[in-house]
Amino acid sequence: MTASSDTCLGATCSTIAKESSTTRYSIADKNRMIEGDCLDKKIHNVCSEINNLNKESNNMDKEASKMGRDAISNFDSKVAYVAEEVETRNSQHAETDEFVPQIRWPDTIVQIFLHAGCVYGLCLCLVAAKFYTSLFALVTIYITGFGITAGAHRLWSHRAYKAKWPLRLLLIILFTVTGQASALHYIRHVYVWALDHRVHHKYSETDADPHNATRGFFLLTSDGLFSPPHPKVVEKRKAVDMSDLEADPIVMWQKRFYPPLFAIFNIFLPVAIPVYYWDESLWNSFWINFNMRFTITLNMAFFVNSVAHMWGQKPYDKNISSVENLGVSLAALGEGWHNYHHVFPWDYKTGELGNAYNPSTSFINFFAKIGWAYDLKSVSNRMIVRRAKMCGDGSHPGIWGYGDSDIQKEDLEELEAMAEEKNQFFKDE
Ligand SMILES: [Zn+2]
Ligand SMILES: [Zn+2]
Repeated sequence: MTASSDTCLGATCSTIAKESSTTRYSIADKNRMIEGDCLDKKIHNVCSEINNLNKESNNMDKEASKMGRDAISNFDSKVAYVAEEVETRNSQHAETDEFVPQIRWPDTIVQIFLHAGCVYGLCLCLVAAKFYTSLFALVTIYITGFGITAGAHRLWSHRAYKAKWPLRLLLIILFTVTGQASALHYIRHVYVWALDHRVHHKYSETDADPHNATRGFFLLTSDGLFSPPHPKVVEKRKAVDMSDLEADPIVMWQKRFYPPLFAIFNIFLPVAIPVYYWDESLWNSFWINFNMRFTITLNMAFFVNSVAHMWGQKPYDKNISSVENLGVSLAALGEGWHNYHHVFPWDYKTGELGNAYNPSTSFINFFAKIGWAYDLKSVSNRMIVRRAKMCGDGSHPGIWGYGDSDIQKEDLEELEAMAEEKNQFFKDE
């Protein structure tokens, strides 16, 4: 090989090396460009993602602020509602607190007349009337009382037993002879008597109680004779279920015709019988056999709502006002065992020791023997123990009698079992 060819070869190699180097640079540039493009795209994607996130974040901010505004507005409206409620209740309380009983003068005058006439009638018994006239008044007061105790109270107010129609008719006539009346515009036939009595048991010692024991002896004994009832009493009367009495044709018959029935059985017959049978003077008979008799019976019934809620023992529930009072039991045919009665209002005996001066229980037992009274409800020892435990923590269900929805389920089951046993007993007798 010559020197010129070596030179030529060297130049070629150098050219190739240069070209190769240029190509490498070009490839590197392209690679860089490609990488740059990719990065640009990635950056672009990241940017758009950031934008999206920003948008989402903005939307979330808007939503959050809307939700916040809604929540605040809801809260505000709730606060406004509660404030309105509080205001309404306050005004109701104010109305209740402001209730001041007004004296009803026509009723007051009637009561003054009746009570003065009662004293005059007593004087006539001692000095002018025939012996049989006084005896007749006494016996009538005693016997007709069963219309209230065994009838309006235990049968119709509390459903403590069931009675066939002859007994219901007898009881409603006895009740009509007593002529239970509260005020001139508010005559109390059995329907109204039972309604008020159910309200008394259900809302004892509250403003809704027609015989609220916290009002004091005079107002309790007068039993709304001189003043209209508390607005709460009027309101709660509407809430009591009276469908059972509405389904009793004898009760509804008396309700419909009470004024003429009152005139016949409470005034005409008691006054006419002594005049017709043993020539008593009409004057004496009126003051003794209408005025005195009617007023005494009225007060005896009121004593159950006053004395039996004030003075006596509370062996069954110390948290309620009703008490056990022998005096009331003697005067009101066994209705003085009132602490027991408010705890177990469905017991037809209205006393744990049913025959411890309780003629109304004997009356019902007699009619159960002849089959006119049946399904007598009572109370077992276990039930008494259970209730004593309940009273330990101060709870009291406030029930008005048999069939009340607040009655304890286990008590009701036991009652039904007892009723079956009792029915079987009277069938076997
Ligand atoms: Zn009571
Ligand atoms: Zn009762």
